Amino acid sequence: MIVTKFGGTSMASAEQFKKVKSIIDANNERQIVVVSAAGKKSSDDIKITDLLYTLHTHLQYGVPYTDIWNMIAGRYLEIQRDLGLSSNISADLDIIKSKLKKDIDQNYLISRGEYLSAKLMSAYLGFDFVDSKDIIRFTYSGTVDFERSEQNAKKFFSSHGKIVVPGFYGSYPNGEICLFSRGGSDITGAYLARFLNAKIYENWTDVPGTLTADPRIVENPKTISQITYTELRELSYMGANVLHEDSIFPLQEKNISINIRNTNEPSCPGTIIKRDCNDERYVITGIAGKKDFVSFDILKDHMSTEIGFTRRVLEIFEDYKINVEHLPTGIDSVSVIVSGSSVSGCMYDIVSKIENELGAKVNVKKELALIAIVGRNMAGKSGICARIFASLSAVGINIKMIAQPPDETNIIVGVDNSNYKKAIQALYKDFEDANWI
Ligand code: ASP
Repeated sequence: MIVTKFGGTSMASAEQFKKVKSIIDANNERQIVVVSAAGKKSSDDIKITDLLYTLHTHLQYGVPYTDIWNMIAGRYLEIQRDLGLSSNISADLDIIKSKLKKDIDQNYLISRGEYLSAKLMSAYLGFDFVDSKDIIRFTYSGTVDFERSEQNAKKFFSSHGKIVVPGFYGSYPNGEICLFSRGGSDITGAYLARFLNAKIYENWTDVPGTLTADPRIVENPKTISQITYTELRELSYMGANVLHEDSIFPLQEKNISINIRNTNEPSCPGTIIKRDCNDERYVITGIAGKKDFVSFDILKDHMSTEIGFTRRVLEIFEDYKINVEHLPTGIDSVSVIVSGSSVSGCMYDIVSKIENELGAKVNVKKELALIAIVGRNMAGKSGICARIFASLSAVGINIKMIAQPPDETNIIVGVDNSNYKKAIQALYKDFEDANWI
């Protein structure tokens, strides 16, 4: 059995629904269909989930909301009409409309995009609709209750067979709706694939697969045909966003492969994500990066012999609930690298705490970009850093930080924000010329 998930652009119009149907019809094993809310039809369109958030704000502030509601309802009614469906979502729309009040539960309202998509898709495919609030159960702390959710998934699958399930949400023990984070329909699909022990989890989107670099920076980057879970996590953590990063863990533990596919080009094989990849053609699997990190460079004489110094530094960041990304060290210096947004309101409080409590000097370096060069085939090979440094130095870029995890599948370099694009372009070109990527 195959679990399939279709993203927002695959749900954007009747024409897209038809493509989904022909994909499902082409393989009888595609028995579980998870859907997102309708996405953009064109680049200037607005995603239904974003409209629902705006609708919620209007309700909260008592601003007229009828136009937004009509846009949301209209999108689904249009799809229903264009598909010529006889079953009707008007009753569902009436129920939602009757709840449009100031104190409406936000999670309930936001989840209606996925709910309505699934209602239409189940009618169109002739599969049963099963509400994800009855399958994915959360604890009150917002984590998935594995045991209950797994039992529910198995129960519904064995009693219904082919089903359509809305992505993105589940429910708390009291039945209220709980959402995953944005883009979370990927996670719903991943859990269902895990609970039902799927042969594969197909994630259908609007790109040909995971790309070797950001297409906004590198012209025509290649599609990665095979990538390990670890590599994908490294790339998604650093900004490559083809799949929600939280959808990897549930599948990795059971070694269920993920196949990223393009709804608009179903004949393309896409990207396979799995535990072990045997394709050794390329040294580098992909390059990703993010801008706007901040480095707290901490200096103190004899730091190297002061036991507990680093722990005390880290405790200060912990007190402010700041996630530490990297920790490069010297003999009497250590840098704490964090995302700029996480310290926007407390940067100087942290500096003064470190200086006053630990007697150290702190220099803050802002506008740092981190670039991750990822590849399982880099491990144990010499000459990788040599090429990275050579290609950056050839275009006059100064490297401000270097990090490599113990498994050697990733090399991270820090450069000025202003050099971010240029650095990725130089690295990509060099790797491509050497047939490394
Ligand atoms: N509709 C939700 C979002 O836009 C979830 C999803 O599409 O995966 O974030």
